[in-house]
Amino acid sequence: MSALTDLIYGGANAVAGLTEGAVNDAIAKYGEQKEVAFPDTAYFLPTIYAATGVKVTKLGDLPACVGVLKSLISGKEDLGEALNAGLATAVGAEIIEALKYVESADPYAGDSGIGFVPDPIIRSLGVPLVTGDIPGVAVMLGKADDAALVSEIIKGYQTRGILTFLVGDIIEQAIENGVKMGLDFRVVPLGHDVTSVTHVVTVAIRAALIFGAVTPGDLPTLLAYTKERVPAFVNAFGALDAVTVSAGAGAIALGFPVIVDSDLGDIQVPGALESVTDLTKTVAHSLELRNIKIKIREIPIPVAFASAFEGEIIRRGDMHVQFNSTRKPTCELVVMKDAADIEDHKITIIGSDVDTVTAPADMSLGVLIEVCGEKMQVDFEPVIERKLHYWYNYMEGVMHTGQRNLINVRISKEAFEKGLRLKDFGEVIWCEIMDEFASVVDKCQVTLITDEAKVVELRDSVAMPRYDERDARLAGLTDESVDTFYTCILCQSFAPSHCCVVTPERLGLCGAVSWLDAKATKELTPTGPCQPIPKEGCTDERLGKYTAVDEAVSQATQGAVSSVTLYSILEDPMTSCGCFECICGIIPEANGVVIVNREYKGMTPTGMTFGELASMTGGGVQTPGFMGHGRHFISSKKFISAEGGIERIVWMPKELKDSVGDKLNKTAKELFGADNFIDMIGDETVATDSETLLAFLTEKNHPALGMDPIM
Ligand code: SF4
Ligand code: ZN
Repeated sequence: MSALTDLIYGGANAVAGLTEGAVNDAIAKYGEQKEVAFPDTAYFLPTIYAATGVKVTKLGDLPACVGVLKSLISGKEDLGEALNAGLATAVGAEIIEALKYVESADPYAGDSGIGFVPDPIIRSLGVPLVTGDIPGVAVMLGKADDAALVSEIIKGYQTRGILTFLVGDIIEQAIENGVKMGLDFRVVPLGHDVTSVTHVVTVAIRAALIFGAVTPGDLPTLLAYTKERVPAFVNAFGALDAVTVSAGAGAIALGFPVIVDSDLGDIQVPGALESVTDLTKTVAHSLELRNIKIKIREIPIPVAFASAFEGEIIRRGDMHVQFNSTRKPTCELVVMKDAADIEDHKITIIGSDVDTVTAPADMSLGVLIEVCGEKMQVDFEPVIERKLHYWYNYMEGVMHTGQRNLINVRISKEAFEKGLRLKDFGEVIWCEIMDEFASVVDKCQVTLITDEAKVVELRDSVAMPRYDERDARLAGLTDESVDTFYTCILCQSFAPSHCCVVTPERLGLCGAVSWLDAKATKELTPTGPCQPIPKEGCTDERLGKYTAVDEAVSQATQGAVSSVTLYSILEDPMTSCGCFECICGIIPEANGVVIVNREYKGMTPTGMTFGELASMTGGGVQTPGFMGHGRHFISSKKFISAEGGIERIVWMPKELKDSVGDKLNKTAKELFGADNFIDMIGDETVATDSETLLAFLTEKNHPALGMDPIM
């Protein structure tokens, strides 16, 4: 037997023994009926469910799984067979980790790791993964000889936007070396036991179930999905024991190459298991093995610039200065100008820079960005403007919230001390616009104003009128007023048969692609994910059914979906990929629908949580009665208008009601004259079961109760 297969089988057998013992102990302690589940998932024990179709819900289900796990360990001298033993280790690790959640509801409390990753987080990763904002996923485990060097690897991934999961003592090594951690920083510590690697394995596996619509039990399709569509790889550090090696074999079975820092000599398997002993080469080699290509943006500023810093929060105590609309006048504006009026790359500062104030300071800030280009359109101004939020946040030590004249921008003391000044903001804006919008912007100049009177002037006489014009344009932008809709197939890299149809009144279900965005995308990348659909061949106005839409969708999905309607949840509803902001599902008892946002963790009156409702659809499949959609679609006059529209909404989580309330009320007033419609809609504070909800709706005289039966 080769040294490698020997190690894999040794580790797999050890894990099998541990798992069996742990299962027996747990049953002896709690009995077979005791529930076993990971928190906030609709996929049971995901590895077991995806690989075998078995839904584990109680301890009594586990002995059979242990049996399956053991059967995967054939002991045969064959690498393929040994990789199966690696999968057995993954199953064993999953069971051992699940048992931790039997012992305690929050077994990772007090640990620096987070343990199980809930479904909504995976869904939220959909868009950044498909856009390439997160170009890959790294799993780093073990303990490196050189903590500083391994921390540089983590930072290397971080600046490239790679999502990195840490397992083992490497977590502390990274903390000691100042690695900023948490999902917001794209560096996620999972746990210290090697079994906690299961928490990233199940992320990949649930991606296949959520986005790929892989049938549970179809192991070959599952493995093909993770290999082809999940751009993950493993870096293992320190001494390799048999258990780590067999876990690595599990990763290889899923299609993830493993790079170790020790010299494995001739037991290396090119492309799957390789040694890189020079840690300065680990990042490059790992990316190369997974064919992850990253465009490094060299922006001449004194702090790091990477999407990984997007979620960084700067507290008041840590800030040098803030530009906060509630304290000082501010505004941000992108405007289209004639070429003659623009001097490319001119960055002007009017007023004093941030080195004239002492922390914590408040200053005014007006940012005027003037662009020109043959293909530039006024409609693209807000598309570029919204990007400022991201570009500011990508600067390490800068935080940005809001937009237009309502913003808050903070610069940390650390970034200030590194030398960050306003001209660097100008540099970032110029570089990013000329990069991302290269095909529409030929020249760009940036003016940053801190002089309060001049900011007020810019805000009131230039920016506000422009915002008003845009709002008027948006308000007038209806499905009737345009002659073109757009497809978006960005999510096909995860959900191969999914296609969004984006119209002025129905944005993409991720919430990130409006009709204007789609239009701009088409202009920026003519052969890209958004293609125009001529609004032709309306065969049913109520449903929003067009032959041109059907043709476009059928073509975009290679025939997987032949017909979608724009306005119905019951008849050929639009497909869902999995990254939707909200899920809408019908609740026949109340003759209406409930809408649940991804952030809501509790129960809904349908008897299902967000995760469970969400699992009813996705992967580019049409599921009448369930539909993923963006938040902003809720207040649209076209929202399930075929079934009666927003009058059907009977329940939403409180937070969602608060966020869409004003707009929804306005639409309700216009459509059916209701005052304060939002008050008639239930939420978790009044009902989480259908009976209580029905009583509430009756008391409020909710219009849905008087409508035709929804089905
Ligand atoms: Fe994905 Fe649809 Fe959003 Fe495009 S619009 S990114 S396909 S969810
Ligand atoms: Zn998606």
